[in-house]
Amino acid sequence: MVSTINQPYTTLSNGIEMPLLGLGVYDMHGAEAEQAVQDALETGYRLFDTASLYENENEIGNALRNSNIARADVFVTTKLGNVDHGYDATLRAFEKSLEKLQMDYVDLYLIHWPVKGQRKESWKALEKLYNDKRVKAIGVANYLVEFLDELESYAFIIPMLNQVEFTPWLFQGELLQYCQNRNIQLQSYSPLTRGLKLGDPRLIALAEKYDRSPAQIVLRWNIEHGISTIPKSVSKKRLQENFGSLNFKLTADDVAFMDTFNENFRICDNPMEML
Ligand code: NDP
Repeated sequence: MVSTINQPYTTLSNGIEMPLLGLGVYDMHGAEAEQAVQDALETGYRLFDTASLYENENEIGNALRNSNIARADVFVTTKLGNVDHGYDATLRAFEKSLEKLQMDYVDLYLIHWPVKGQRKESWKALEKLYNDKRVKAIGVANYLVEFLDELESYAFIIPMLNQVEFTPWLFQGELLQYCQNRNIQLQSYSPLTRGLKLGDPRLIALAEKYDRSPAQIVLRWNIEHGISTIPKSVSKKRLQENFGSLNFKLTADDVAFMDTFNENFRICDNPMEML
């Protein structure tokens, strides 16, 4: 993947390159979603994270197709819906996603949620899609250490990426270490806590120290850890602000300080319920 935009990329375990920062597109639809993708492309974003659950694969595909950016220069993730688990159902769901995106491959296909009793067969289907070269990389989402251990017992292919909720207020050090040890790229979702923790006085103090916004400090904290992150925004101003997290650094001490903010704070359901 070639980009003229100066931004950090990570190399997945199978050699595929992926930008560290991307746009999450949950909860945007129609013209608003198409405009957000267009604005993001103009800002420099090259990674887009959608899912069949978000019901906007069509719009995301339209916006990317109508842009002047080559398909090979963008990285598109989509996900298997919870209602589509099982070997054959997964293969069918994948074709439906491709059709909606109007693409002949996706860069990354993820199991959205470790659905009890079905995740093994679904992973086997993802392995087939990968072996058949229908996807550049495969991975999982919401897989805690227990789920990754289980997957390792039957998988031929170890996921290239694990997308989980991960913020200073939900600092999962053991999971980060586990993924790093196995060369599984960690990617954080809801990195901005949907705004709920951006007023934390410790974060505000850091924002003042670096003359940056609270959102930029949190996103930069991810980048310093080597964690890919996918903040969502439909505002061009905030898209630019979030992308601006790529052009400054935090000290190691400040990163370590932010690691201590942990209070097991979650926006989304705790995947442990699926064990
Ligand atoms: P985020 O933490 O990214 O927060 C998004 C919210 O914050 C929006 O309301 C947005 O508003 C606002 N916002 C964006 N930028 C700023 C800023 N600089 N300052 C203040 N507010 C800001 O939440 P999401 O839950 O959307 O997570 C991001 C992505 O992660 C999703 O879009 C999706 O792709 C993925 N995800 C995956 C899940 C999974 O199970 N795998 C679960 C949840 C999310 P506005 O748009 O108006 O700017």
